[in-house]
Amino acid sequence: MAIDPVCGMTVDEKTARFTAEYEGKTYYFCAKGCRDEFLANPQAYVGGADHGGHQHPGHMHGGHGHMMHGGHHCCGH
Ligand SMILES: [Zn+2]
Repeated sequence: MAIDPVCGMTVDEKTARFTAEYEGKTYYFCAKGCRDEFLANPQAYVGGADHGGHQHPGHMHGGHGHMMHGGHHCCGH
């Protein structure tokens, strides 16, 4: 299983319909909205070098105003 880096859900690589490649790695998403979110700002989700730690996938503080705590805006879970 892979983890959707945007919302933190587990995604089965075999059945995932939404994937994206970034810096040679493949990421899996539960929904198109998550993939779009990732592609809009991939550094925020892969843990870019300029952050120095403390970053949780799907649990960003600031930056994305529409990313609410604890919600899966993308897939209705
Ligand atoms: Zn998702």
